[in-house]
Amino acid sequence: NILITPKSFHTYKEKIDPLLERAGYGILANDTGRTLTEDEIIELAKENVVGMIVGIDPLSERVLRSCRDLRAVSKYGVGLDNIDLKAAEKLNIKVVSALGSNHISVAELAIALMFEAARRVSVMIADVKNGGWSRVRGIELTGKTVGVIGGGMIGKEVAKRAKGLCMNVLLYDPYFNDFEFLEQHEITRCDSLPEILSVSDVVTLHLPLVPETRHLINSDTLQRMKPSAILINTSRGELVDEDSLYAALKDKRIAFAAQDVFSKEPPSPSEKLLTLDNFVLTPHAGAYTAEAVEKMAIRSVHNLMDLLKE
Ligand code: NAD
Repeated sequence: NILITPKSFHTYKEKIDPLLERAGYGILANDTGRTLTEDEIIELAKENVVGMIVGIDPLSERVLRSCRDLRAVSKYGVGLDNIDLKAAEKLNIKVVSALGSNHISVAELAIALMFEAARRVSVMIADVKNGGWSRVRGIELTGKTVGVIGGGMIGKEVAKRAKGLCMNVLLYDPYFNDFEFLEQHEITRCDSLPEILSVSDVVTLHLPLVPETRHLINSDTLQRMKPSAILINTSRGELVDEDSLYAALKDKRIAFAAQDVFSKEPPSPSEKLLTLDNFVLTPHAGAYTAEAVEKMAIRSVHNLMDLLKE
């Protein structure tokens, strides 16, 4: 059997079920309509489940060990931080991501969040719908400097679009080596994180959450940013130390933060960052477009079948 947890999968049932069924697999679906807990995954997959297609459901060592027949995990998405990769390797469970299936959608949301920060469109729309007619004085993005942190699939698309908006684009990624891309799009590589943070009007995060990048944005790095700076995070909540971000936004040490991700999703209703006017959060919707959802569904099924064939 194959366990499929992402809820948007049912839209593509007609395309996907026959693929798996033809290959001889039965399908177990997640009918909770949300991310599963560790115990729920174990209950569904403790035996006779050889493959899984998962969203951000927690695949800890305990879960991977408890699913006795599991041989392969295919991520419906890109970030693998919900999967204990070391444990998977020890247990000989193969893991693959659907890299490149949602980069355009996430890049477009990052740009949307930049405009939201610059123009407060959502605030003005809500005000007018409530009978008001108040303008919020914004800023232009043209001519501003954007620091793209992480130059992978998503970071590159953001960099190209920012260039199209007549912004100056800097890129920080110690592992980046696509120099042709930099030349072709007139993007400048920056080798120092403190430097890119200190010169950017907009800082946008497009790197994975791994132990070295956890709390990359913290009290020290926030201090290096301009008081007028906008922080965009569509990658993972834990890249940012939220206590330090709260303090920086409250004291106006940076101007604005717009995120699509949070350390705990959904955040608690009493979350203090949500009380700030200069903080906005969307519900991890970066990849939630018609195009990306279809590509992720098909790609993750093919990826899983390839792994199970090996
Ligand atoms: P990718 O693997 O193509 O790119 C990641 C880039 O980060 C790589 O170029 C890598 O060299 C770079 N990097 C690694 N460590 C770094 C560091 N310390 N400093 C700077 N750069 C570093 O991945 P991608 O498709 O561009 O996705 C980026 C992240 O976006 C994913 O890891 C995931 O967490 C997140 N994501 C979020 C959503 C969403 O719905 N909001 C959807 C897809 C992906």
